Parts: sequence; structure tokens; C-alpha cells
Amino acid sequence: MALQLSRFLVKPLMWAGLCLLVLAVPGYGQSEPELNLKGAIDFHVHSSPDSVPRSIDADDLARLAKESGMRGLVLKNHFESTAALAYMVRKEVPGIEAFGGITMDLSNGGINLEAVKRMSMMKGGWGRIVWLPTQDAENDSKRRDPNKPFVPIVKDGKLLPNVIELIDFIAQHDQLVFETGHISAEEVLLVVHEAHERKVKHIVVTHAMYYVENMSIPQMQQAARDGAYIEFDADGPFVGPPPAEDDGRLCGSDSPDRPGVLHSCHEFRHDPQSAFSVASPRPARIHASAA
Ligand SMILES: [Zn+2]
Repeated sequence: MALQLSRFLVKPLMWAGLCLLVLAVPGYGQSEPELNLKGAIDFHVHSSPDSVPRSIDADDLARLAKESGMRGLVLKNHFESTAALAYMVRKEVPGIEAFGGITMDLSNGGINLEAVKRMSMMKGGWGRIVWLPTQDAENDSKRRDPNKPFVPIVKDGKLLPNVIELIDFIAQHDQLVFETGHISAEEVLLVVHEAHERKVKHIVVTHAMYYVENMSIPQMQQAARDGAYIEFDADGPFVGPPPAEDDGRLCGSDSPDRPGVLHSCHEFRHDPQSAFSVASPRPARIHASAA
């Protein structure tokens, strides 16, 4: 329980360095030095069992990660808590640090403090992440279907009281990580600022460059100044659609086919559709790309 998750999070704007890590890996047809994942944590992985199709069960994924020398996984599910699953994965695959969490989507009751409390109390204590609404965020929901119900978090430009209450609870529980889910870029800035003001210890902007949030570089910088870690995953910059401001400096889009990037996704071929964000305390390959 004394584990400090912050050690595993990508430091603000460190994703640029992680890009370099990925770019150091050659593309298809080139010689292929082994991708070094030793000590890495995937902070955002979708696996089975789920109520939508996924390509690999969580325990098998954990075995795969262990074989690769990875340290751990954060198991994400849009529709239910993964705290119990994290406990079972740790039991079945000793040596892998699995963490769970809960989203504030409709199937979990929307913004639901009671569900968060239960998630954090799950046996093992590995339920650590609270995501604001993801697929049921207004920002994502209306994109899918304008008439679909969603979970509001703001009214008249102000955060709703139940969101403030949730933030305050997380601020009182330092083991928890507060993630922004799929809310809009503007909402991200509002929420991150509030969470920072209310002394939340761990704040993560969920896949900031994913096309659903599509945060600009200045927006990400602003969130980082407010103490947030910026999650940087395969969806969006790597497997498309590209983010609005990826001009090649960040993600190598100057390469016609982004070879290193695609190779990296191929390495995780068991679920190329899932976001795969790697936060490594030892990005061993950065030196190669700097050469
Ligand atoms: Zn996800």
C-alpha cells in the first residue's frame, strides 16, 4: 500500500521523451533489436473479460507482460470496476503489479462516490484509479450519438457539486489516481485546475492526444503546470487518427509510414486496438534516438 504510483507515471511532458523511445525501434523489414520493456508499466490497457470484445484475457496479458520483463499493468474497463480483477491477476500471475480502477460512466452510476469508495476498499487494495466519464462523457457521447444519455460534469462553466465532492474524496486518499477520462479539452483544464487546488496528489490527463480530447500543445502544457501527468498512448498519435497538432516534432509523422511507431504497436499485437501507454522509469532506448 505504500507503493507510490507516481513513480510509474509519465512525468509532465515526458511523453516527448517516450516518443523518442518508440522512434528508436526500426520499422518492418529492418533489423529488429529487441524492444526493451523491462520495468515498464502499461498505464491503460483494455482486456477481457469485458462486456465488449477484447482480444486477450487479463491474466494472459499479465503473463505476456511478465515475459517481456514489464513491471505492471493498469487494467481499464469502461463499464465496471477492475479492482477485483487486479487482485485476481496478481494472484494468478505473481510478479506482475496489476492495478484496477473505476470509470464514472453510466453503468457505474455516473459520478458515483459510493462506487469509488467500494472500489478503493476492494481486497488487496489495488483499486487505485478513478476515471471521470469516458464513453459516457458529454464530449464523447455526443460524438457517437447526439441523443445518447451522458454524464454531465459541468453546468454554466462550473463543475457540478458531485464532481467537487469526488475530487475532495480523492484528495483525502493519496493512493488514488484521478484521471480525466474522455471529457473535452476545456473540461480537462477546468477539472485539473480544481483537483490541483484541492490538493489531489496524482492527476493524469487520459490520452490527451487521442482524437476525442485532441488537446493542443499549450493545453497540455497548462495541465502539466497544474500538476497533471500527461498520458500518451498508442491510440491517436500512433494508430490514428493523428492529433491536431502533431506536426512531426512529437510523434514522428514526418516519417511517411511512421515505421517505428507501427512496429511498436505490432509488438503488442495481442490487442492493437487497445490504448497501450508505456511509462517506464528506465527508458533505455532514448539514447539510441539521440545519436
Ligand atoms: Zn481506455
